[in-house]
Amino acid sequence: MNFKDLTISKASKLLRDKKVTVKELVGYFLENAQSKNSKYNIYLEIYDDIAEQISRAQKMIDAGKGTELTGIPFAIKDNILIEGKIASAASKILENYKATYTATAAQKLIDQGAIFIGRANMDEFAMGGSTENSAFGVTRNAFDLERVAGGSSGGPTVAVATDCALAALGSDTGGSIRQPASFNGIVGLKPTYGSVSRHGLMAMASSLDVIGPIAKSVEDVELIFNAIKGKDEKDSTTVEGEIPDKVKTIGVPRAYLKKGLDPDVLQNFENSLGKLEKAGYKIIDINLPNLDYTLAVYYILMPAEVSANMARYDGIKFGQKIDGKDLIDGYFKTRGELLGQEVKRRIILGTYVLSAGYADEYYNKAWQVRNLIKNDFAKAFEKVNLIALPTSPTSAFKIGEKANDPLQMYLADIFTVFANLAGVPAISIPDGTVRRDGSDLPTSIQLVAPHLGEKRLFQVGAKFETIR
Ligand code: GLN
Repeated sequence: MNFKDLTISKASKLLRDKKVTVKELVGYFLENAQSKNSKYNIYLEIYDDIAEQISRAQKMIDAGKGTELTGIPFAIKDNILIEGKIASAASKILENYKATYTATAAQKLIDQGAIFIGRANMDEFAMGGSTENSAFGVTRNAFDLERVAGGSSGGPTVAVATDCALAALGSDTGGSIRQPASFNGIVGLKPTYGSVSRHGLMAMASSLDVIGPIAKSVEDVELIFNAIKGKDEKDSTTVEGEIPDKVKTIGVPRAYLKKGLDPDVLQNFENSLGKLEKAGYKIIDINLPNLDYTLAVYYILMPAEVSANMARYDGIKFGQKIDGKDLIDGYFKTRGELLGQEVKRRIILGTYVLSAGYADEYYNKAWQVRNLIKNDFAKAFEKVNLIALPTSPTSAFKIGEKANDPLQMYLADIFTVFANLAGVPAISIPDGTVRRDGSDLPTSIQLVAPHLGEKRLFQVGAKFETIR
């Protein structure tokens, strides 16, 4: 049987109708994973208990207890814990760290009989937008091996795009699900902040982090989101609920669509808007006056939270240790040698913006502007039901192109970080390709909904897939 272009909904039907076994289905993705890994550098580890996971899932199906996710092969980002398995966040400092408990989101999938093929590569501790910051090598783009996968969820995304998994769990703090999804031509959802538990996700910036699904279709992403969402007593920030899902109007912050946006990427976006309009949605210009400050605010608040969260990796509380001549020398050696440059840059930046005398000027001011940005969205959503903009200003860039220029790299997040700052959900859906050096590279439209408005994203997203 040909498993190419399979989606979760199609695969689970095949499994439940007994047209294929879990072993056959997972076998296809596993063989790909094994044969393609040296080329793309997707998996940091392919698990050794897949046979047991398969037989557990098959038993569930045979007993009539299967759900749509039973037997579906997933990749998991290396910063989400599964008890007994290594989770390194692609960092040397956690190279041998074995998780002592399972993340709520992963557990919910395991309870439904989903299969985890392996842990996938990422930017170290999710800090980056290209997976070049992994301590274990860069992941390559599914459409062009000389280009980046995007990041930080590069491994999980390329796993899905190259049929080395049928779906994946990633995390998104400033765009880490949506941007790689866009670079690799698949769908990624950053859920409402708190709608998916962060329990068992290694914290990067706790007020922005969220776990979310990566898959081949909007329907698949919806299936996974419905399985992993919900209140969790182990994460007090979790929220539940839904808002009315009718969508008639879509707002576009036109004034913002300028900076660094490639003309052909913009053209694909305009074409998509045209199609949505034809499908009956009213496209309206909106104004989000404080959007210009999102990157500045993000790159103050995020490192501040990073610096606090990273304090635990000192070789004593967590992580590998390098001994020094005394305690302080040991700290310096451990953190100096086992953490990557970008992680250290953000710890230093974050410590600076939080330091006495500067906290008011930077950190507290950034929080005030964050509130203005939130208000902008609340106001815009009084006028429109959804907001649309491109996911990324460019298609996938070349490996090494931005690696030595952090500011250029940070600019790549210009269309994604606002959703994390405002806490609202956003989905990235492929909307075309652009030609670069002989390769056709995917681009995406991003749809943004109010708090707990995921259903709107799924409704319009699924429609868009039929008209694009
Ligand atoms: N690229 C962004 C950053 O470097 C987003 C990362 C993320 O979402 N984890 O911070």
